[in-house]
Amino acid sequence: MIRELVKPEHQLFHHRIDSCSYKLDRQFLSNTLVENMIHYNGIGISANQIGIWERAFAMIRDLEHNEIIVCFNPRIVKSYTEEVEMEEGCLSYPDLFLKVKRPDKIIAKYEDVNKKTHKIKLQGLASRVFQHEYDHMEGIDFTQRKVNK
Ligand SMILES: [Zn+2]
Repeated sequence: MIRELVKPEHQLFHHRIDSCSYKLDRQFLSNTLVENMIHYNGIGISANQIGIWERAFAMIRDLEHNEIIVCFNPRIVKSYTEEVEMEEGCLSYPDLFLKVKRPDKIIAKYEDVNKKTHKIKLQGLASRVFQHEYDHMEGIDFTQRKVNK
């Protein structure tokens, strides 16, 4: 089901999202996230962007192979020191592109639909998308991270 994008002014949009609720239907949320990400032409979308207050997001891990992952209870366990600056967009802010500096490489953990934990190393665009979506889980958006110039 296609859901409406939450306006960034929504007060819950700027609140940290707690761990996924126990009785969450992960498969249903996973399908909803992927469907909406594709509908809105995003490379990542978090549940709270479409008004679902659960700690989960979908992202394209590999653009070339169109590999999508859906992450429940995501965590960043390590950020490497080397940072890169890149222009970012966000589905919650159509037509806004901002330069944001982030670590190029991270080690992240997340659970899948079956509650299995995965540990992955991400670099480049995938690492950036993960960090951007992770920020949404923390109630932070890219306007708070823009490079001042
Ligand atoms: Zn965003």
